[in-house]
Amino acid sequence: MTNLVTNLAAAVEEYGENTAIGYEGAETNYEEFWGQTGAFANALEERGVGADDRVAIYLPNVPPFLIAFHGTLRAGGAVVPMNPQYKTREIGHLLGDSEAKVVVALADLVPFVTEVQDETSVEHVVSVGGEAEGATEFTEFLEPGDPGITERADDDVAVQPYTSGTTGQPKGVQLTHENLASNARAASELIPDGIRADDKQLGVLPLFHIYGMTVVMNSTLFNGGAFYPLPAWDAQQAISLIEDEQLTLMHGVPAMYNDVINQPDAAEFDLSSLRLCGVGGSGIPVEVLRKFEELYEPKLYEGYGLTETSPITHFNSPIEGRRVGSVGKTVPGVDSKVVDENFESVSPVEAGPIDEENTDLRDITGEIVVAGPNVMKGYYGLPEANEEAFTDDEGRRWFHTGDIGYSDEDGFYYVVDREKHMIVTGGYNVYPREVEELLFEHEAVADAAVAGIPDERRGETIKAFVVTTPDADVTEDELKEYCLTNLAEYKHPREIEFVEELPRTTTGKVQKFKLRDEEASTSQ
Ligand code: AMP
Repeated sequence: MTNLVTNLAAAVEEYGENTAIGYEGAETNYEEFWGQTGAFANALEERGVGADDRVAIYLPNVPPFLIAFHGTLRAGGAVVPMNPQYKTREIGHLLGDSEAKVVVALADLVPFVTEVQDETSVEHVVSVGGEAEGATEFTEFLEPGDPGITERADDDVAVQPYTSGTTGQPKGVQLTHENLASNARAASELIPDGIRADDKQLGVLPLFHIYGMTVVMNSTLFNGGAFYPLPAWDAQQAISLIEDEQLTLMHGVPAMYNDVINQPDAAEFDLSSLRLCGVGGSGIPVEVLRKFEELYEPKLYEGYGLTETSPITHFNSPIEGRRVGSVGKTVPGVDSKVVDENFESVSPVEAGPIDEENTDLRDITGEIVVAGPNVMKGYYGLPEANEEAFTDDEGRRWFHTGDIGYSDEDGFYYVVDREKHMIVTGGYNVYPREVEELLFEHEAVADAAVAGIPDERRGETIKAFVVTTPDADVTEDELKEYCLTNLAEYKHPREIEFVEELPRTTTGKVQKFKLRDEEASTSQ
């Protein structure tokens, strides 16, 4: 069963009375949730929106997101999730490119939609959380009753999220029912007993992003568990929800876990109800993981993936055993390998820590490529980007992740950094991640990011942006000296800037281009 609708229907059949969604103290069971998605699907069908039509969802994590998401799929449509932080310009591109017919938006965001509506195919705007000019209220956009069955094939597009990839305008990633259903199933199978009907999942990762959508939302809903959405990250609020509702599962990006351990009352949090914490979206500094596990009972399991792979391709499964610092093994059903520029496999290294002094990363690393049922159909309407993204080899269609890494003989993968983040300084290649890991080990450092900035002599030079802990007493020179004693000379940051906070995306990635742009504008 690889269809998203049939997966949810099966859970409703088996766990009808269980809580599907818990939000602000109110609970919705599976039967009720199924009724709401049916009513939304009916409303779409009544307006002639059906097979293969795009419905954009422009919402934070609130129950109507889940209703509109699964309602759209039941009507045979495909969902275009949009980051609720986006403004007119950004959504204009997404709505234009996807040709979405309907937008479900937070009432406050509706003006951004109406501003661009004339240049798009949007016919209906639905507002959540109040009235808005030019929109029908969500509560009215529901027509109770059973929608007709709109059959969708496994390889029909179910969701089309947008991702920036390396450069230029965001690209629409066509993910099929099979892509998403197989990955939601894999996400569940990676934890002991799978996700259970008595599990309670924290839903704080944004649902518009593939990690929150598949690993957190769908893997819970397909197994009868309860999903507790939170519209925004706030460490204290998230912890209170875990404690009050005795949540059993949590996923987050590294910045969230770092935020938790840096709270003034971090030692008082009780996370003992959690049986698993997952982390991904970017690499978690080993030091952050270590501090988290020193403070709390649950262990942190790191995984890796991309929007284009629905997302999980690698995971440190508690079943298979984990290796801190690694992103884990390739998940069942998915294949991956490390290749050089000629698409030749790069041999795995011996298991265990690499001998950093005597290893040249260039000898052991390559690009990680992936094949499997989770890999996207392709970018929407971009033949050239698709040409670049895939290599056909020995009967398989391999997707290029753009990430540099290596594997070991036990099958664990290590992500060094994104290819495009590599800094070339005086002829040497330096991956920021290595310098960042070291900075995190310094007691005065709460957060850190490293980027290459233009330099006349060396091409690029290394600069670190550092957020210090509240009562830290450290100087730039001391941190430089610390890096110099622990790293090869060419890798140490020649500049250090103390900042209040790092610019991050809603999904926790440091926006290095912003750091570089700021640098360029201040040095002019
Ligand atoms: P996205 O499409 O937004 O999910 O971003 C995918 C990218 O996030 C990958 O190509 C990686 O560069 C990065 N990423 C995700 N998980 C990890 C991880 N565990 N370690 C390092 N990088 C990661």
